[in-house]
Amino acid sequence: MKTEFSPAQLANPDIAEADKILRACVHCGFCTATCPTYVLLGDELDSPRGRIYLIKEMLEKDRPPTREVVKHIDRCLSCLACMTTCPSGVHYMHLVDQARVRIEKEYARPLTERLLRSVLAWVLPRPGLFRLSMILARLARPLAGLLPAPKAATASPSLLRRIKAMLALAPGSLPASGPAGGSVFPALGNRRGRVALLQGCAQQVLAPRINQAAINLLTRHGIEVVLVKDEQCCGALTHHLGRDDDALARARANIAVWLKEAEGNGLDAILVTASGCGTVIKDYGFMLREDRDFAAAAARISALAKDITEYLGSIELQPAQQQSDLVIAYHSACSLQHGQKITHAPKELLSKNGFVVKDVPESHLCCGSAGTYNILQPDIANRLRDRKIANIAKVKPDMIAAGNIGCMVQIAGGTSVPVVHTVELLDWATGGPRPGLN
Ligand code: SF4
Ligand code: SF4
Repeated sequence: MKTEFSPAQLANPDIAEADKILRACVHCGFCTATCPTYVLLGDELDSPRGRIYLIKEMLEKDRPPTREVVKHIDRCLSCLACMTTCPSGVHYMHLVDQARVRIEKEYARPLTERLLRSVLAWVLPRPGLFRLSMILARLARPLAGLLPAPKAATASPSLLRRIKAMLALAPGSLPASGPAGGSVFPALGNRRGRVALLQGCAQQVLAPRINQAAINLLTRHGIEVVLVKDEQCCGALTHHLGRDDDALARARANIAVWLKEAEGNGLDAILVTASGCGTVIKDYGFMLREDRDFAAAAARISALAKDITEYLGSIELQPAQQQSDLVIAYHSACSLQHGQKITHAPKELLSKNGFVVKDVPESHLCCGSAGTYNILQPDIANRLRDRKIANIAKVKPDMIAAGNIGCMVQIAGGTSVPVVHTVELLDWATGGPRPGLN
C-alpha cells in the first residue's frame, strides 16, 4: 500500500512503524474471510482491510479520529486472526494498538462511556477492587432482568446494556484467594529449574485453582515456583483500552521486579497461564523499544515470558497416571493461537496425557471475550459466544479446555459443559486432583 507520510511525520517512531506496517499490506483482502466482525456484520469497514484504510487516513492526514473511525476500531476484537491469515505479514496488532491510543487521547467519547471505561481501567487490574466489584455485581444480579433485552448489534450499546453484560459475567460465588505475592513453592525432589508464575488480576479472583494446578504440576516435576512480590497487572487490560501510560507504567514496574528476581535467585522463565497476558508481556520489548532505560530489560523479560504449555512442552512430564479417555474440546484462545502462534503444544500435551482431544470447528474465530470487549460490545460478543458454543457442541465433549480465563468465563456463560484450563487437566493426569469448577 502506498503511503504519503511527510518526513516530519516519519521522524515520529510510531508513525515510522505504522508506515512500515501499511506498506506491507497489498489490499488482497484474504484477511476479511477470517475476521469475526466481518463474518458477522459483512461491512468492509468492520474487516481488517477496512480498518487499515481508516487508520491510514487518520494517521496520514493527521486528523482527529471521527465517530465512524472509532465505531469500527471499537468493534475490532484485537483477536489477531487477520495476522494469522495475512500472506504479507502485516502487523495489524501494532497498528490497531496505535489507533486505540490516538482515539483515547483525541476523541471525546460520551460522558457515560468515558466513565465506564475509567471504571474498568481502574477496577480490573486491581484484584482487591475486582473482588469487591464481583461481590456487588452478584448482589445486583437480580436487577439484570429489569434492564432492556438485547437487540441486534448496535454501533454503541447503551450504558444499561453494558451494565447488564457485566452483571451476567459475575460468578455465583467466589473462591478463597490464592497464595500471596512473595510465596515460593520449592521443587519436590531434585530441583530441575526455577520459574516465576504470573499471578494475574481477574484470574486470581475468579479461578485461583488454575495457578494452583500449575504450581502443583511444576513442583511435582522438580520446578521451583515463585510468585514475585510487588508484581502488578501485566497492563493488557488498559493497553487494549488505549490507555498506554497506565499499561507502560505497569510494564516497567513488572520488569523491575522480575529482573531483580532473575538476577537474584535466577529464573528460567516467567510463566503465564492467561494467554491474553502472555501476548502483551511478550510484546513488552516492542512497547518499550524507545525507552532508553527499559528497552533492553523489556526485551529480556519478553524473551523469558512463556505460556505454561510452551514450557511444559519443553520438560519431560511424568507418564500419565490417568487414562481418562474423556473427550476434550480444545478451545484455542485467540491470544494463544494468533497472538503467540501456539497451536499444537496444548493439544499434544493433552493427547499424550490420556485425553481424547477434539478440534472445535471454526476454531480460528474468537469466542467474543477479548478483554473488556464482552462488556463494551456485548451484542457482537454474545453472537460470537453462541456461535462458538454451537461449534463446540458439534464435537460432543465431556469437558472444554482453554488457556485463557477470559475465554473460559465467556464460554462457561453459555454452556453447562464444564470449562477448565489446560493445565488443570495436565495436573490431574499426572497425579493432581480432578479439576473442579471452583
Ligand atoms: S483483530 Fe480480529 S476483529 Fe480485529 S480486524 Fe483482525 S480479525 Fe478482525
Ligand atoms: S491479508 Fe494482509 S495484505 Fe491482504 S488486505 Fe489483509 S492485511 Fe492487507
